[in-house]
Amino acid sequence: MALVTLNKSRDDWELVPNLLDYDDARENFSWEHELALLDGLPAGGLNIAHEAVDRHAAGERRNHTALRWLDRQGDATDFSYGELSRLSNRFANVLRQLGVQKGERVFVLSEREPALYITALGTLKNGSVFCPLFSAFGPEPLRARLSIGEAKVLVTSERLYQRKVAALRESLPHLQQVLLVRDAPESALPPATLDFGQLLDHAADEFVIENTDPEDPALLHFTSGTTGKPKGALHVHEAVLAHHASARLALDLHPQDIFWCTADPGWVTGTSYGIIAPLVIGATMIVDREEFDPERWYGILRDHRVSVWYTAPTAVRMMMKVGAELVRQFELPALRFMASVGEPLNPEAVLWGKEAFGLPFHDNWWQTETGGIMIANFLSQPIRPGSMGRPLPGIEAAVVRHCEDGSVEPIVEPDQEGELALKRGWPSMFRTYLYEEERYQKCFHGEWYLTGDLARRDRDGYFWFVGRADDVIKSSGHLIGPFEVESALMEHPAVAEAAVIGVPDPMAGEVVKGFVSLKPGFEAGAALQQEIMALARKRLGPAVAPRQIQIEETLPRTRSGKIMRRLLKARELGLPEGDTSTLEGNE
Ligand code: ATP
Ligand code: MG
Repeated sequence: MALVTLNKSRDDWELVPNLLDYDDARENFSWEHELALLDGLPAGGLNIAHEAVDRHAAGERRNHTALRWLDRQGDATDFSYGELSRLSNRFANVLRQLGVQKGERVFVLSEREPALYITALGTLKNGSVFCPLFSAFGPEPLRARLSIGEAKVLVTSERLYQRKVAALRESLPHLQQVLLVRDAPESALPPATLDFGQLLDHAADEFVIENTDPEDPALLHFTSGTTGKPKGALHVHEAVLAHHASARLALDLHPQDIFWCTADPGWVTGTSYGIIAPLVIGATMIVDREEFDPERWYGILRDHRVSVWYTAPTAVRMMMKVGAELVRQFELPALRFMASVGEPLNPEAVLWGKEAFGLPFHDNWWQTETGGIMIANFLSQPIRPGSMGRPLPGIEAAVVRHCEDGSVEPIVEPDQEGELALKRGWPSMFRTYLYEEERYQKCFHGEWYLTGDLARRDRDGYFWFVGRADDVIKSSGHLIGPFEVESALMEHPAVAEAAVIGVPDPMAGEVVKGFVSLKPGFEAGAALQQEIMALARKRLGPAVAPRQIQIEETLPRTRSGKIMRRLLKARELGLPEGDTSTLEGNE
């Protein structure tokens, strides 16, 4: 396996000598030590918002830019740590005045606007639970999540409220307060709503966070819905330890960095790393109001001197589709580290990063349930393209086999496939699936949390994603992981995206069928299908290569950008499509 070594030097290598040696870092790591790097709440306990904002606001980083927000035109508004602390205090006071209690849930439905960030931090300060919703959800997915989560407060924009929520009010008995962020505050408010801006303007600047038990609920996140109905994963304040550790160790984030996480806070990545982690470190985080556009994105990297960038395979594939030439027109001397999460990152994509940016993408793996990065390709370690990397210090990961007596045991030999499992007890581990305790309990076997993903671990401890347990294909007695097949398809220069599924076959049980979309300038047709199949056969052998390739305009994906194989399969077999609330374009 080819190893990629970095060709850019880092500016402050000596600041993290513990990362120079992975084994040393693991050995020297402890969560107690991580806690000692944080502040702790003056009133006792641990509160995410205090660690993210107030402790910096009280010190020399008070005037340092915490949040740089880019509006539609790309114009920047900066919020210092001091300002963010004051504004979130005000929002916490608003909640207190409205009688919102500890543990009650405050939902937000908003584009990436400053109000979203103020709401998140103020909610955490009040001890209430922050629950972000993706702004492009249609009314039904919104109703379902607001009602499962028993939302007491909703912060949203006037426009989103009128379009999506107003008609649902009757069916949401728990929803007591709706706060609207308004473009035209002088107009009349819709019935049964309050003006967010006005409440904030009249609230006091000071707020003392009450004692917060590290086990107090803090965040409620719905999963992406890739494999079925989304689940509400509940996280606690102690999770901040994992946000801090993973930002330091997996993203190499330092207080002097300009960090940009492209994910929307409606998905866990956009909250853990698009709000909490960069602030806890004391860095500057970029928030862009707009969606993906390659020129705009490269312009942001350049103009705001982004040094650490965290994005997703779906974005990388879109950039690859446009081509490396465009990137090269932008000078990006500040950019020193790029990482990706959300789906498997094909080796092609890792290497494309080097070709286009002079830096590879560092893949890392985690889930809504894990709350933070668990497995990563570290800056100081050679990347293995196609591998998720190695477990973070403080995290025990294993590939386990399911035994006949119902127990699980770690597979010691390298390169064996099995279910990816994590030893329970890390701070950002979810504490339940809201109102689905039984389903939650089923994820655990003894000391192991079972992730539902299949993986291999190589001799050197790098983990390789095989596929989701639900997506694995059984063909003539072989188990075929979709990721390997898709990566081979991606090697063809015409292929922009690939997904494979198993379809029933009388001889083999199942055979592999591939779906691909094309890069611009390539013509769909039988000749191209044959060519792609021939390449796959050459790479994978006839038993594993797809028997059929279907060329599609685009592949169905979740709004967080993940390809929905289950939908391709349902459509192929003429079965019901199941829960499509998170399907892109489904509004
Ligand atoms: P649902 O649980 O509702 O089906 P989901 O699993 O896609 O949706 P998330 O929690 O957003 O919801 O995604 C976590 C999953 O994404 C992982 O379990 C894994 O399957 C996939 N994933 C994330 N990062 C990577 C990665 N680096 N490599 C491979 N797969 C990844
Ligand atoms: Mg999942």
